[in-house]
Amino acid sequence: DPKAVDLRAAIREIPDFPSPGIGFKDITTLLADPVALDAAVRGLAAAARPLAPDVVIGAEARGFLLGPALARELGCGFVLARKPGKLPHTTVRAEYALEYGTDALELHSDAVAHGARVLVHDDLLATGGTARALCELVEQLGGTVAGCAFLVELAFLPGRAALEPRPVHALVTYE
Ligand code: IMP
Repeated sequence: DPKAVDLRAAIREIPDFPSPGIGFKDITTLLADPVALDAAVRGLAAAARPLAPDVVIGAEARGFLLGPALARELGCGFVLARKPGKLPHTTVRAEYALEYGTDALELHSDAVAHGARVLVHDDLLATGGTARALCELVEQLGGTVAGCAFLVELAFLPGRAALEPRPVHALVTYE
């Protein structure tokens, strides 16, 4: 039973990384633990299945860790959103705010079929900038965001509000 596995205990917290005052959630320990990895993929799939997605989308780089495994568990394909200049075919782009400056993600312009139901996935929801850019890319191409599924949510940041009104699920929440 994936619900019986303590995913929170499998995530390591690194104080003051990458800068003082930040408690970084390090999921490398969860990924390296076969029982926790299996429970994470199955838990994400259980949350996402009722949303009936056709495809899963994840952002470079940490959305690539669990995204393809989650897609396979759901019987979906996986679509990559990458940093600018990496995808070889025609792309669409969404910019998003960082703490200092902006960043952007690109998607192949034929990667999401018109009307497709897309599950947006990332390892962690913080301010929501990354996931919101993913949602905007999907919607630019005429897809529908069925919902968003994260391993971790930092609920003391306004990520969930940034994604409204789209459904948001997270397996481990830090208040
Ligand atoms: P957001 O765009 O502010 O929601 O930040 C989410 C992105 O930052 C995700 O792609 C995460 O991989 C990364 N991120 C932010 N904080 C952490 C953390 O504590 N641990 C792991 N990744 C993080």
